Parts: sequence; structure tokens; C-alpha cells
Amino acid sequence: MFARVVSWLRSEPSPVVLDPALLEETNAKLEKSTPEERLRWAWETFGKRAAIGTSFQPAGVVILHLAKVNKLRLPAFSLDTGLLFRETIELKSALQDHLNIRIESRLPDLSLTEQAKVHGDKLWEKNPDLCCELRKVQPLNRKLRSLDLWITGVRRDQSAQRTLTPILELAWREDGSIVWKLNPLADWNRDRVWKYLRENQLPYNALHDRGYRSIGCSVCTRPTSASDDDRAGRWPGLAKTECGLHTRYKNSA
Ligand code: SF4
Repeated sequence: MFARVVSWLRSEPSPVVLDPALLEETNAKLEKSTPEERLRWAWETFGKRAAIGTSFQPAGVVILHLAKVNKLRLPAFSLDTGLLFRETIELKSALQDHLNIRIESRLPDLSLTEQAKVHGDKLWEKNPDLCCELRKVQPLNRKLRSLDLWITGVRRDQSAQRTLTPILELAWREDGSIVWKLNPLADWNRDRVWKYLRENQLPYNALHDRGYRSIGCSVCTRPTSASDDDRAGRWPGLAKTECGLHTRYKNSA
């Protein structure tokens, strides 16, 4: 019995090399699939060369739960900028306990003190694009070097900029190499995500009960009104709407 359990724990699909020419055809199939089927495809195609990237938004919690209940041992990671809300860190801990999983934290090269020495204090006020580059985009790129598929919680209804998000797309690492990107809940809306969270009694960020929608770094996130889109509270007062994680590695051709 013990040997069988060990064997199951060790077993994982052998990753295949998916030809980028198959993008359109594969995406068309995945568009007609359920999120569970999309995640199963990810696991069976890429094994542990696929990973769930989460910032602990509601959609990310749903994806982690779907992977768990469907016995898909997809690794999970998050980007710890050093500026997350206490409530976000508490949610990470609660999710790890609730789902019995480990979520890897990826850190920036520079601590906040080192960043202040090199680039000045409160870089997020003077140059938020550079701050996001150093604290989010570069750590993500380092993580992507070890992956063939990056799974995200991006949804089409989150903002005008995200309305055309496909289920499956290609992204480009910093060195120009290709990484697949799966958005298994792209076609779910906010209500559907929250219905799932409530039906499954999943933990969520306590800040959502205080008017916050999309939650990022504490110094760059504010509560929003019910009529705003999900990302309206990010970088308030600035034209900036994306940190670069989902735009920096897009095909610019
Ligand atoms: S969200 Fe703000 S604090 Fe966080 S990395 Fe971007 S600019 Fe810096």
C-alpha cells in the first residue's frame, strides 16, 4: 500500500513539446472546455513544467481549489514584492492550510532598503513602472525560465484592456523564448467566481469586505465603488492599469 502511494506521488505526466503552430487549434478546443478540463490538459501536457501563478485574487483561489479537488499536482507560486497587505499574507497562509498545498514565494533581487539606496525612497511614487519591473516583472521572468506553461487568473471582465484575453496564448520570456500561458477562467465573470468561492467555502482576502476589488501592493491599491471595474483601485490617480506581468511578455509583433 505504502509503495503504491509513493509511486502515485512520484508519478507525473512527461512534459511534451507543444508546437506553437498548434496555438489556434488548441485554443479553439480549450475555449469549449470547462476550467477543470483546461487545467487537466495543462497537467497532462506539461506536468510540473506548468505552474499556477497567483496574487491571491478570487480567481486565483478558484484555480488553486480546482487543481486540488481534481488531483492535479500543479505547482503554485506568487510574487512577494515586500509590499503586500498583511491580509494578503494571511490569505496565503490560510490557503496553504485549507488546501494542504505549498505556494512558492518569488522575491525581487533587491530588498526595499537596497532599492531605496539605489533608486531612491518610495520608487512606486516616482517611477511605478520601474518599481513594478524590479519587484514583479523580473522575478516573474526568472520563474518563467523553469516553466513551459504559466497559468493565470486573468479574466475578460476585469478591465477594458483584458476583454480579448484568450484561454490559451503565447507569451515571451525576456530572452525571446516562448512560454505558453493558460487563462482557465478568462470566460468567467466576477459573480461566477464569487459564487464558486461561497459554494465551496473558500478563504478570500478580508480586504474584499472593505471595498477592495483587485488587490496588489498596499501602497498602490485603494478601495473602489461597486460600479467600478475590478482593477479601478490599482495605481489610483495614474494612467497605469497594468504592472507589466500580462503585457510585458506579450508578442509585440
Ligand atoms: S504595485 Fe506599486 S509597490 Fe508594487 S511593485 Fe508595482 S509600483 Fe511597486
